[in-house]
Amino acid sequence: MTDVTTAVSTTESTTATTGVVSTDPATWDEAFRAEVTRVREVVARLHAELPRWELVVWTAGNVSQRIRHASGDLLVIKPSGVTYDELTPEAMVVCDLTGALVEGDRSPSSDTAAHAYTYAHMPEVGGVVHTHSTYATAWAARAEPIPCVLTMMADEFGGDIPVGPFALIGDDSIGQGIVATLGGGRSRAVLMRNHGPFTIGRDAKDAVKAAVMVEEVARTVHISRQLGEPTRIPAEQVDSLYERYQYVYGQGGAVRAPLTVVADDVTPSSSTSSSTSSTDTTEDAR
Ligand SMILES: [Zn+2]
Repeated sequence: MTDVTTAVSTTESTTATTGVVSTDPATWDEAFRAEVTRVREVVARLHAELPRWELVVWTAGNVSQRIRHASGDLLVIKPSGVTYDELTPEAMVVCDLTGALVEGDRSPSSDTAAHAYTYAHMPEVGGVVHTHSTYATAWAARAEPIPCVLTMMADEFGGDIPVGPFALIGDDSIGQGIVATLGGGRSRAVLMRNHGPFTIGRDAKDAVKAAVMVEEVARTVHISRQLGEPTRIPAEQVDSLYERYQYVYGQGGAVRAPLTVVADDVTPSSSTSSSTSSTDTTEDAR
């Protein structure tokens, strides 16, 4: 990875108090319990956005959000094989950044390993979304990056939407492909080859927005191509649009500062696959 910075530590902005061990719910105090409850509600609600924007069929898509804590960050994600109508806050599951289940009654989504690896290696990322949305996945099937031919692409993604490597579900392979492709770059979306889009954001809502936007631009550029080759935006104009949108537009300021990869200083457990590649690989987004 390049452009390694040390800007953000996973230990900042925690709700840590004495005695709380994030991976042991028995030790959670009122404040941390409240934070877990809040993020469960956020993630459950955002799952409803996937069918609403026609990004998923059946159970093929998932949203997660990071919970920061000094004793180890956690993530909240949907359980495996549960339909979107059943996704209450209580049904969500809590995992650590190896993908191991911390709290919940069901198995985590079979994509949890990819989400967990991304959080572990990109500390600024607070939300991850995966879908098989039709047009974005069609570009992934061709292993072709979406060229930056729209100002909204320059605004949102700062250039082309890149293609990630072919990777199979069940271990860290997909996560490695996401981090290797998005690390140090500006795009918040990657088209995993022969698979579909994964998006990242400062929180889950931001990542859902990126998932909606990548499908929108994939569709528009595809349609444009039917009548000829779309015209690329010159690189300097892409830079200008991106800078303006990220730092000025919408009073975003620092809150919308580009996501950057921080060092490989969090080592995910090699046991990721054991906790997330459950028998249920026919469900969720694969
Ligand atoms: Zn998938």
